[in-house]
Amino acid sequence: MLRLVVSFVFAFCGAAKASDGARPPVRRAPAVLEGEDGGPKIRVAIARNSPSIKLKTSAKTYLVEVKTGQKYLLLANASYDIKRAGEQSLSVADQTLSSPIKLLSADGSEKVRLGGNIYKGDILINAVPGGRLNIIEYLPLEDYLYGVLPSEMSAGWPLEALKAQAVASRSYAVKNLAPGKDYDVTDGIDTQVYNGTKGINSRILEAVNATRGEVLKYKGKIVTAFFHACCGGHTGSARAAWGEEVGKPLSGVSDPFCSGSFHHKWHLGISVADMLSFIQAKGSTALKIKGIRLYKKDRSGRVITVLFVTDQGKLQVKVTDIRKRFGNSDFKSLYLTSVVREGGYFEFSGRGWGHGVGMCQEGAKEMAKRGMSYKKILRHYYPGASITDYGN
Ligand SMILES: [Zn+2]
Repeated sequence: MLRLVVSFVFAFCGAAKASDGARPPVRRAPAVLEGEDGGPKIRVAIARNSPSIKLKTSAKTYLVEVKTGQKYLLLANASYDIKRAGEQSLSVADQTLSSPIKLLSADGSEKVRLGGNIYKGDILINAVPGGRLNIIEYLPLEDYLYGVLPSEMSAGWPLEALKAQAVASRSYAVKNLAPGKDYDVTDGIDTQVYNGTKGINSRILEAVNATRGEVLKYKGKIVTAFFHACCGGHTGSARAAWGEEVGKPLSGVSDPFCSGSFHHKWHLGISVADMLSFIQAKGSTALKIKGIRLYKKDRSGRVITVLFVTDQGKLQVKVTDIRKRFGNSDFKSLYLTSVVREGGYFEFSGRGWGHGVGMCQEGAKEMAKRGMSYKKILRHYYPGASITDYGN
């Protein structure tokens, strides 16, 4: 069960605990909907498909039924279970409310704490199919970027690298805005990592503010500005990685800037027994692997498939499947340079870390260290793209 705590952020540590068992009342209040503050906003799914939510308050809080604007007052220092009541409704204490509901501070100063993170946008709780609940934060795009930046790049890195990251992350976010869906982005690695207000400092604010509204465009369209930790010497193409036809900015470039990175080269030993059970799980009847060869490569040198030579013939396997099975943190990239048998192990050697498409963060850091601007960094990693305001 997820625990959602509504609190005055600075008062949270000293917040009184609600007594268990008592059911606090939900009171009707005059219906008033807050107006929007204008400017682009984004909806971030900070929890998905939760069976129920435990809401703890340490200050008076309103629940607002979005459809009607009706407000319900929750008491301070109380505990409320939020559950599904029907297809499109939720129950809080004895009240049934139609989905979605919005959490609102009674005095406008509160923020919401969920897990270890603090969120300052509007929090919406939605009924979703399967009897589950989603928690969505709805906030200005630029505020969202404050939260993304320290989660995706160290706040201690050079400012021009942080600015380049801000433009890439903004482009990626704008490209993902999906009004027809329940939310635009998640807070995880499947889109961009976002941890609420965690890690925001003056350098993060400066990087986002200095590039406010700027995105990458190519032929009039916003670029899905992918980025990754380290390319290993050549960025990959989005078409080779995911079959996406995205044009010049994401087709891959040679990168001399990340060669000093810790992630530039990697090695991983996988036992012969583990490799055998891996291909057996894929349907092979082999009892012995005679060797593994790097097989199909894309233009950037990344390996698409390897060829297993076994006692039962040859088998082509996608390297993405091997990565998925043995872990993206250990099997760092598709940019394999060799695989050799060493005793009871297959030793994989490769370059870089991550999918390799778009901006190489380690390279961006080095370019910034050498005095290059964020625009120069972006033009290097997204060739052909222009840097422009998203309104244009
Ligand atoms: Zn690189």
